[in-house]
Amino acid sequence: MTQSTPPVSSASKPPLARLTPEQINRYKRHLLLPEVGMEGQLKLLNAKVLCIGAGGLGCPISLYLAAAGVGTIGLVDVDVVSPSNLQRQILFGLSDIGEDKVQAAAKRLRDVNPDCNIIPHKMLVNSHNVMELIKDYDVVIDGTDNFPTRYCVGDACVLAKKPNVYGSIFRFDGQVTVFAPHLKNPNTGEAGPCYRCMFPEPPDPGSVPSCAEGGVVGVLPGIIGTLQASEVIKLIIGLGKPSIGKLTYFDAADMEFRQFKLRRDPACPVCGDHPTITAPIDYEQFCGVPILDPKSAEETAAEVKHAKQPAGTKPATADLDGSGLPPGYAFKPDWEVTPREVKALMDKGEKFYFVDCRLPNEYAITHIEGATLIPLQQIQQHGEELKLHKDEKVIVHCRSGARSMQFVQILRQNGFPDAKSMAGGILLWNKDVNPGGPHY
Ligand SMILES: [Zn+2]
Repeated sequence: MTQSTPPVSSASKPPLARLTPEQINRYKRHLLLPEVGMEGQLKLLNAKVLCIGAGGLGCPISLYLAAAGVGTIGLVDVDVVSPSNLQRQILFGLSDIGEDKVQAAAKRLRDVNPDCNIIPHKMLVNSHNVMELIKDYDVVIDGTDNFPTRYCVGDACVLAKKPNVYGSIFRFDGQVTVFAPHLKNPNTGEAGPCYRCMFPEPPDPGSVPSCAEGGVVGVLPGIIGTLQASEVIKLIIGLGKPSIGKLTYFDAADMEFRQFKLRRDPACPVCGDHPTITAPIDYEQFCGVPILDPKSAEETAAEVKHAKQPAGTKPATADLDGSGLPPGYAFKPDWEVTPREVKALMDKGEKFYFVDCRLPNEYAITHIEGATLIPLQQIQQHGEELKLHKDEKVIVHCRSGARSMQFVQILRQNGFPDAKSMAGGILLWNKDVNPGGPHY
């Protein structure tokens, strides 16, 4: 997991001093800009930039940096390309499915610009490897999607005095800024803030849904990633005002850009006046969540496996136990029924009230005939309708079994003695009872 190639240090490769005729032709739109010119283009060609994350943000960032002629681009990601990446990760195509993202990206970027030395780092960034990873790069870009990595990269950049070009996205909103306490806010002359100045504490585990859970509009990382790439180019050339101490928030739904001032916190534990964090810490422990969500890794593997299967073959259900549950599933018989048991009730014609507590957009993706849609969020509004079934057997399902359990707990508190949740939700149903049914 930590296999990577060290970046070519400036010692091993002398800085480029002039452009070849081919390079002059390739970069002439830059050379025509007095603010960039020959000097700026040489700075780009001699720059070393590390992009952490080769996903939604990393794709447009690295494409534009390669096109601009950034001489060394390190790319960090541990994932492989899966079909659901293609909605927004524009470096990849169908032929890349199942391939390591960093390798597929390197292939594409080298094709965009052979001047770029693309360095793939297939690894998870953690407190043990982050300082070594970033040490030879001039600029670090945070294009990750999880809190442990953001804190890790944020702290390491403060400690190693590297600018951290930060971007994040969720649903229709995104934000961009440059964290760099060793550099000055161009508007105030004060030292800039770091990631911890903005977010001193991580969110409660599970309180902030990821893009995998909450969704993201495909073009959004293109916009935010391109803004990050623009900040990187400005920092390398020394052009304009870097976005230090200024956070830009973008709302794609209403086409609104809003800007906020950010200030360094003198009490910040890493960039403050009396820092208490002087080396990377254990970020998984700090955030209370793993860097790599095992569930999402499993989903990626399943997606890739499914995409690689010849059309018409049935997906294997061999990885379920004798009752049709994933091995090791902590089944609670007082509170749950298995999809297989629900199917048996249906086949016997036994009467029960079946509730699908997901959202209508999820229902449109896949649903079970006979289930009534009552989103968990609307349980109060449907009180009267539900009461009619108080003394019946009630079975509730959602996507994977978490929301339906909440729904059942509320029902039980309100006097529904025979309410149960369908274990594993419709995802397990579509694996065991309705194999080949949509997985989302
Ligand atoms: Zn700070």
